[in-house]
Amino acid sequence: MAHDTLTNAQMRDIEALVHPYTHAASLRQTGAHMIASGEGIYVTDEAGRRYVEGLAGLWCCGLGFGDAELVEAAQAQFSRLPYYHLFGGRTHEPAIELAEKLKELLPMEAARIFYGCSGSEANDSQIKLIWYMNNVLGRPEKKKILSRKRGYHGVTLATASLTGLPLNHEDFDLPLEFVRHLRCPHHWKEAEPGETEAEFSARLAAELEETILAEGPETVAAFIAEPVMGAGGVIVPPEGYFPAMQAVLRKYDVQMVADEVICGFGRTANWFGSETFSIAPNSMSMAKQLTGGYFPLSAVAMDRRMAEAVEEGASRNPALGHGFTYGGHPAGCAVALAALAIYERRDIVGHVRRVAPVFQARLRAAADHPLVGEARGAGLMGGLELSPEPGRPAAFAQPGKVGARLMEEMLARGVILRSLGDTLAFCPPMVITEAEIEEMMAPLPEALDATH
Ligand code: PLP
Repeated sequence: MAHDTLTNAQMRDIEALVHPYTHAASLRQTGAHMIASGEGIYVTDEAGRRYVEGLAGLWCCGLGFGDAELVEAAQAQFSRLPYYHLFGGRTHEPAIELAEKLKELLPMEAARIFYGCSGSEANDSQIKLIWYMNNVLGRPEKKKILSRKRGYHGVTLATASLTGLPLNHEDFDLPLEFVRHLRCPHHWKEAEPGETEAEFSARLAAELEETILAEGPETVAAFIAEPVMGAGGVIVPPEGYFPAMQAVLRKYDVQMVADEVICGFGRTANWFGSETFSIAPNSMSMAKQLTGGYFPLSAVAMDRRMAEAVEEGASRNPALGHGFTYGGHPAGCAVALAALAIYERRDIVGHVRRVAPVFQARLRAAADHPLVGEARGAGLMGGLELSPEPGRPAAFAQPGKVGARLMEEMLARGVILRSLGDTLAFCPPMVITEAEIEEMMAPLPEALDATH
């Protein structure tokens, strides 16, 4: 039974919707929080209360919530051509222009771009197209995909399997058989006593090699990783991690897939997380900030070998048997082009470089609080992990409860954030100013004191 203080709209919501990532029984008590409008880094709820959106929606609204240029780009494209597809050899100008622009911007020699609508679709396409490639290359055994515990790559059957979080597997009968999850590269939690970050990275690379050899290198196709893990708890890789891992991958011709769905387009103070963490990807997945979150669009960038193999497969077969009705939607491509133009014109990367130290310093100042285990982050992403033992990794008796309470305390003080287990995640719109960072972080000490 729903609580009798719920509004009519909240009652209708409960009866009409299944909410993703929501505890259903609790929702019946509290009702959903109805958001009505947005402007800049703020959103306003139906009760008229304004909040700092400290997670940019779901890590996607890098330009905030009221960017008129993005809206105009969508409107203009909707008037000209509201829909077209890329099937059967059709195309349209926004799709071509965006692919060209991405090829210019990406930190890899991207030969071709393939469009989807979501991060999950991009990563699902990665798996399928890598399998397709390996069949074309005459190595049909090479199909296993390595990912990492706490990695997040989506929720389709295949991408939820890549995701390394128990919530996405339990009761869904996942993961599927083709995935192997490697150790999470979280130095604070996983390093041996006294082990430096560089030593830890070397150990993880050695474990990667052991896994590849145990599985048989001829069976291992790819390794997928977020430059900074997002939904798994904002986990920044230890020093030297990706170069050490990639040395092993190269040795066994295992493809490096960079999942830039969160890190892409400025978030880590470079255009791509791959630049920040010295990743040389063979293929990349992008979504979210690609359109500033205003339109569902994703993209896979592939290197020449992958692009040529896909082309050969699509010639050998009657057609490429893969594609989404709305992949490369003209309005989405137009919005993405507008977003990229704004990122360039307003030098968003430069802005993030200027304000990120202010944010990171404010976050790290919270590390002294007795409830905090670790404060960490990169660029305009941050995680505050709570622990029953100050400064040390340890699990609470009821995992996730204290983190959720801190999130509520911040909400009560006007800041929307997201708790990932007992880590409070920050990922504000990249356009946030220093004064707004102050506004977002100011309630934190009091909210921590109020959290039990
Ligand atoms: N990859 C990463 C790194 C993500 O953070 C997400 C979503 O949060 C996804 C993939 C899945 O994207 P979507 O929710 O658009 O399917």
